[in-house]
Amino acid sequence: MLGVGLMDIVDGLFIMLGIDRVTPDLQAGPYLFFDLTFVDWDHSLLMAAVLSLIWGALFLRRSLAIVAALAVFSHFLADWPVHNADLALYPYASTHLGYGLWGKLGTASWVLEGVFAAALLAWAWSTSARRGVSLLWPGVVMAVLFVQLSPWLSPMKWVAQFDEPAAHLLHGALVMLGFLVPGLLLTVLFDRAERRAGVLAG
Ligand SMILES: [Zn+2]
Repeated sequence: MLGVGLMDIVDGLFIMLGIDRVTPDLQAGPYLFFDLTFVDWDHSLLMAAVLSLIWGALFLRRSLAIVAALAVFSHFLADWPVHNADLALYPYASTHLGYGLWGKLGTASWVLEGVFAAALLAWAWSTSARRGVSLLWPGVVMAVLFVQLSPWLSPMKWVAQFDEPAAHLLHGALVMLGFLVPGLLLTVLFDRAERRAGVLAG
């Protein structure tokens, strides 16, 4: 749960430290309201691979390490279709990836992200239910997060109107917390759901 958000936890930190650069842009929908001017040290293909390996190395069991590393890298693959060509191949590379659904579709790309997440949740829900595990509360958290990060409720729209340096400092803090807090919360909720099912089964 924390691994899939690691690239953005580091991103938020690097933005606050001034290593990355973001530029307020109220036209940059559907919910970010910032242009990601330079995020090469955490959102380039090379750094995605490096962060995946670092995260994987923290896990002693090899099967777990592989899943953990893939979890981190899945973030880059999920970012690719939506990001507006701001994902460098490697730090300072001129080649940038990102199909740009955010820019091309706007609000519709937010809807697509919701449909994608709902489909994955439905799949996880049914496979977990077969083992007696209820994903009700993780599902509620995901629904709340989806609505909160909508074009209308995104706190980034408000943050983008601050003067610098407040704008990029708050942006960085929200990105970091926006992945750290839900990651920890979902970890606890999944853990509780598994344990409760284990108690019932045992
Ligand atoms: Zn990202």
